[in-house]
Amino acid sequence: MQVIQSLLIDGEWSSGSHERQGEVFNPATGEVIAQLGFADRSDLDRALAAASKGFDTWRKTSAYERSRILRRAADLVRERSEEIAALITLEQGKPLAEARMEAFGAGDHIDWYAEEGRRAYGRVIPPRVRGARQMVLREPIGPVAAFSPWNFPVSQLVRKIAGALAAGCSIIAKGPEETPSSCIELCRAFQDAGVPPGVLNLVFGVPAEISDYLIRSEVIRKVSFTGSVPVGRALGALAGQYLKRCTLELGGHAPFIVCDDVDVDAVAALGAGLKFRNAGQVCASPTRFYVQVGIHDRFVEAFSRASAALKVGDGTNADTQVGPLANPRRVTAMQAYVDDALAVGAQLALGGERPAQPGFYYAPTVLTGVPEQARIMSEEPFGPIASIIAFDDLDEVIRKANALPFGLAAFAFTRSIQRATLLADELESGMVSINHFGLAAPETPFGGIKNSGYGSEGGSEGLEAYLTTKFVSQVG
Ligand code: NAD
Repeated sequence: MQVIQSLLIDGEWSSGSHERQGEVFNPATGEVIAQLGFADRSDLDRALAAASKGFDTWRKTSAYERSRILRRAADLVRERSEEIAALITLEQGKPLAEARMEAFGAGDHIDWYAEEGRRAYGRVIPPRVRGARQMVLREPIGPVAAFSPWNFPVSQLVRKIAGALAAGCSIIAKGPEETPSSCIELCRAFQDAGVPPGVLNLVFGVPAEISDYLIRSEVIRKVSFTGSVPVGRALGALAGQYLKRCTLELGGHAPFIVCDDVDVDAVAALGAGLKFRNAGQVCASPTRFYVQVGIHDRFVEAFSRASAALKVGDGTNADTQVGPLANPRRVTAMQAYVDDALAVGAQLALGGERPAQPGFYYAPTVLTGVPEQARIMSEEPFGPIASIIAFDDLDEVIRKANALPFGLAAFAFTRSIQRATLLADELESGMVSINHFGLAAPETPFGGIKNSGYGSEGGSEGLEAYLTTKFVSQVG
């Protein structure tokens, strides 16, 4: 079987020197479609040397020239977005329409950072001594080690690469082993746009081996990870031990609060669309639907109807709206959450089973009356399960929404400006979206608080993550 040329080190593609290789599956069929070359320590040493040399070149390249190259990369990604989207769907499973948005949208992220990199402004502070100059300069932090997950193979990786490169940093990115091919094509677009050898390096392998080796290396000055809370905690601790700056974008458990003054059918349809996007494998996916008691039954009915109408199938079929999960362990996890919730008293309004077909599918599932002790109420489901719970008043729902250690995204629906303002003020969350889904645009910060991590990707904060501050005081 074909071994993918997966490693980009110092401008050269190879399939790696590790004895181990990974298998890449098509989650719609469960079949192995390719072998993935893994990096071993000698490959990582070459990548570190390349990133060190690349940083030296790239930080001396003007912000204007860096921006020009990045803009060209954005154009190439858009030109190639159909091919990239097909690879996302083949390996990750999401419907082609969603994959197209992801691939085409990557161009927007690159454009944003290309422009923002030209605005890494410092400032001049009035001195106490006549003739002196006090200047604050913003400089690239240095070579970055970045780790991105499989749920959005392109949009999770592009934010790290474009942010680092726009700031003048070099980067070693470890892509997701489940979904390598779209990541490879993304990096090829940067390379073809003129990013010099060594500035952008891509590796795959045994995740813990790679992160452990790279984070400890003296070459690496910044760590960026997107993934689960336990892994983020471990990488953050290691980065702290070596005093490396770190951005952690971890899991969430987003409340979706529906007050009794809304158009129930419209919010239920929007909620179902949001919940089952990418089969629920979205860190900002709504997971706890809190619905005010007076409209609860109508909402459950409308939400279940909208969810049941979603077409589940192979993402390459034009009419598919919900694809398979990315890997078999997510299917097992879904069944365990449902069994546990039902055992402690929840009711099943829809789904709760694997459809009888090959591939890693799980039916869109709606649970109601889910007790707080059900595991799904405190663990991130990361899959196609919606839990709907009734609430009486706003104080109660704010308390419940804030009760978990997560704080990534929160959603609220109301026609009352007083309620909207109260919810925006009181929800403990890095992002609050009121009366729509308004997250993850390139120009807006994306990130969490509490156990959902720290730091932002996107917005001017996303560039800030790759910059340091130098104060220069000068006389004469
Ligand atoms: P996981 O924790 O095994 O892996 C999550 C990601 O981290 C994967 O891409 C994996 O390759 C990587 N990873 C794992 N160990 C690593 C290490 N030691 N060093 C560097 N990278 C490492 O979980 P999973 O089963 O793949 O995914 C399920 C869970 O992951 C979900 O419950 C969800 O919380 C989380 N997740 C979050 C996001 C997000 O966008 N925040 C994305 C994907 C997965």
